[in-house]
Amino acid sequence: MSIAIDRNKCVGCGKCRTVCPGSLIKLDDSGRAFIKYPRDCWGCTSCIKECPAYAIRFYLGADIGGAGSLVHTEKTDGILKWIIEKPDGSVSQIDIDPKESNKY
Ligand code: SF4
Ligand code: SF4
Repeated sequence: MSIAIDRNKCVGCGKCRTVCPGSLIKLDDSGRAFIKYPRDCWGCTSCIKECPAYAIRFYLGADIGGAGSLVHTEKTDGILKWIIEKPDGSVSQIDIDPKESNKY
C-alpha cells in the first residue's frame, strides 16, 4: 500500500509528516511534502485524514478489492467525503458526517 501526494495541491503545512507513524513523509526544499519511503507505508490513512488541502491519494490494493483504484478525501459543508476513482474512470463516493460517526 502506498500514497501519492499531489505537489500542486500541497500547501506545505507539514501535518502529514507529523502524523505519519513511520516518519515516511518529508518536506522538499520548496516546503512541499513527498513520501520518501513508499514501500514502507502500511496504509493507516492518517496523513490523508489530516491533509487540509486534500492533496493525498491512497492506492487501494488488490487485497481489499481495489486494484488500481485511488481514494482521497474532501470536506464540504462539514461532510467528509471519501472519493474513490476506479481504473475504468468511474467514481464512487462515501459521505461521512463526523458528528454521527462518533456516536457509536
Ligand atoms: S498512510 Fe499512514 S503510514 Fe502511509 S504515509 Fe500516510 S501516515 Fe504514513
Ligand atoms: S498535509 Fe497535505 S498540505 Fe500539508 S504538507 Fe502534507 S500533503 Fe502538503
